[in-house]
Amino acid sequence: CGVFGVVGVADAATFVALGLHALQHRGQEAGGIVSYDPEAGFQSARRFGYVRDNFTSQDIMQTLPGELSIGHVRYSTSGNKGPTAIRDVQPFFGEFAMGGAAIAHNGNITNANALRRELIERGSIFQSSSDSECIIHLMARSLQQNIPERMEDALRRVEGAFSVVAMTRTKLIGVRDPLGVRPLVLGRVGDGWALSSETCALDIIGAEFVREIEPGEMVVITEKGVESHFPFRRVPSRFCIFEHVYFSRPDSILGGRSVYETRENIGRELAKESPVDADLVCPVPDSGTPAAIGFSLESGIPYAMGIIRNQYMGRTFIEPTEQIRNMGVRLKLNVNRALIKGKRVILVDDSVVRGTTSRKIKEMILDAGAAEVHFRIASPPTAWPCFYGVDTPQREKLLAATMSEEEMRDHLQVDSLKFISLDGLYRAVGEAEGRKADCPQYCDACFSGEYPVIPADQVKEGFQM
Ligand code: 5GP
Ligand code: SF4
Ligand code: MG
Repeated sequence: CGVFGVVGVADAATFVALGLHALQHRGQEAGGIVSYDPEAGFQSARRFGYVRDNFTSQDIMQTLPGELSIGHVRYSTSGNKGPTAIRDVQPFFGEFAMGGAAIAHNGNITNANALRRELIERGSIFQSSSDSECIIHLMARSLQQNIPERMEDALRRVEGAFSVVAMTRTKLIGVRDPLGVRPLVLGRVGDGWALSSETCALDIIGAEFVREIEPGEMVVITEKGVESHFPFRRVPSRFCIFEHVYFSRPDSILGGRSVYETRENIGRELAKESPVDADLVCPVPDSGTPAAIGFSLESGIPYAMGIIRNQYMGRTFIEPTEQIRNMGVRLKLNVNRALIKGKRVILVDDSVVRGTTSRKIKEMILDAGAAEVHFRIASPPTAWPCFYGVDTPQREKLLAATMSEEEMRDHLQVDSLKFISLDGLYRAVGEAEGRKADCPQYCDACFSGEYPVIPADQVKEGFQM
């Protein structure tokens, strides 16, 4: 998901709409905006579909007045699977002592089921099936005398990954979980402030990037300035390494590094680790593009757009059902026949999850008359599900959970298939020494199976770590 918030500028909701539009790659199912204005009070609008189709008309933006606003774009990782119910669309808003608050959450709460059960037993009335709603109820029950402290109380009970953007009538609040699994950055916009999942959304509103919110930090922002707190026990951070590989936009800066350059580095590492003689390096667009460029630069094999992407389709993976995903590949990608015929082609993609994309693409490219097909993948085999906000399927559905690299190659019937090593990936994100086995610098659980937070709900339901 993507979260964005603005305080201290007129028509804040318009800025939020623009910010969410720049974060659309983080969630395409639905979006919502809440605003506060002293006369109009809290106002909200929640819609299915793209930001550009819902939050551009005067009609709707007029209903969201004020200098304080937050928003969310949704990609369901918990709660109802399949088409989202409108009641699950964030931001969530609740009124309770001290005036209430609205919150938008990116990440996934790993003890949400347990919390929900406890809260319901004690009388909380849930409106949605979303894990994020727990935070509002925990805040409502807290005995603290102001909302930021209630939020600290609430979040100390929450396990897992959370980058939260919240608002009261007067404050914009941003928090990252102690491991800092999901990103969150602070920007300056005119005389006001902005919080965003990624820097690319600051660029779109002309905001200046100030700094990242630190893992475990809470910032409370008013027109007067930014107050910083560290409400949690401090631990070494474990940022999601997959944000660098796939999730974030290539024009964003993460941890002081250009995502684009990191991806190009991944391609270079891949070319060093798993070279192959071929005529062309082609990305599986768009997610494989920077890595393919890096592979081509390192190997000297020409880069070419052997697969053309229809720009009017969304991200296939984020389509909730298997059937839509299967069609999705063909609706979205087509082979550039004239270029491919008779060539030995290296295809670079960011990841293999179920193997749907790679299988379809291999068929398409052989149909087009390619002489050889070599897959190079910009992440290690995805062998474990993510419980921290990326919607990987159950373990059984992951190709790499049941097959070795050799078996996957046979299964996909390609001439070769190689994944970047975990150490190679760490080098590409700037860790010259690779992965520190005793205390890894990132979360890489979907590749290593080492979960930095025990996924308590899942374990209770029988998941074996
Ligand atoms: P597969 O087709 O193997 O199931 O999925 C891999 C494809 O899904 C890749 O092309 C990748 O770009 C895309 N993808 C989209 N969203 C995600 C995600 O959240 N996780 C992973 N691992 N891949 C994703
Ligand atoms: Fe990121 Fe993978 Fe960790 Fe999920 S399990 S937070 S996708 S590195
Ligand atoms: Mg892709």
